[in-house]
This record gives sequence, C-alpha cells and structure tokens, in this order.
Amino acid sequence: MSSRTERACMVCGIIQPFRDFVGHGCPNCESLLPFKGDDSVVMDCTSPSFEGFVALCDQESSWVAKWLRIDGFQTGMYAVKVNGRLPEDVVRALTDKGIVYRPRDGSVQD
Ligand SMILES: [Zn+2]
Repeated sequence: MSSRTERACMVCGIIQPFRDFVGHGCPNCESLLPFKGDDSVVMDCTSPSFEGFVALCDQESSWVAKWLRIDGFQTGMYAVKVNGRLPEDVVRALTDKGIVYRPRDGSVQD
C-alpha cells in the first residue's frame, strides 16, 4: 500500500495532493470538472497511479508541453503517463463541452 497522497488529473495530467484537488480544484480543468469540494469527483477523475514527472515551467517555449499536449496549461508538475480511465459519464460530459478526451494511460497512439 502506498501512503502517498499525490494524485494526477486524468484529463490534463497535473500532479497535486488529493487535498489540493478537493480544496482548489484542478488548475486546468476546474471549468470542465467540478473537483472543488467533491471528494468523489476527485477520486473518479484523478489517479494515484502515474509515471514520470515533468516540470512545466515555461509554457511558451516548452517542448515538453507540446509533447504532452499541455500547451497553454498552468505551470506545475505533470505526469507523463496516468493509469486509469475517466468514468463514461464524465467522458460524455466533456464531449458535450467540445473536449475530446485523450486517455493518458498510453493506450492511444498518435
Ligand atoms: Zn486537470
């Protein structure tokens, strides 16, 4: 059992402690997913299982941002790979908002 509380957002890959997702939401996805104050949304849409760390510091010039498709996202720590899938209803809700969800678990190749 891991005791770490860090979780990665399954939509954008940003890594934050569980309590930050609940307390502040995801800095990128809060307008799409109402993480704030909702433990169950955080549990469903973030994953404690992720691999790789990328620090996104300069979003204008970062090749990493382009590689991870997080151009224009907030600076912070991002997971290269996030294990787990968003629930179907969440994927549908994103689709309704015009967001094409790309699973970050490595199952989708360009
Ligand atoms: Zn996010």
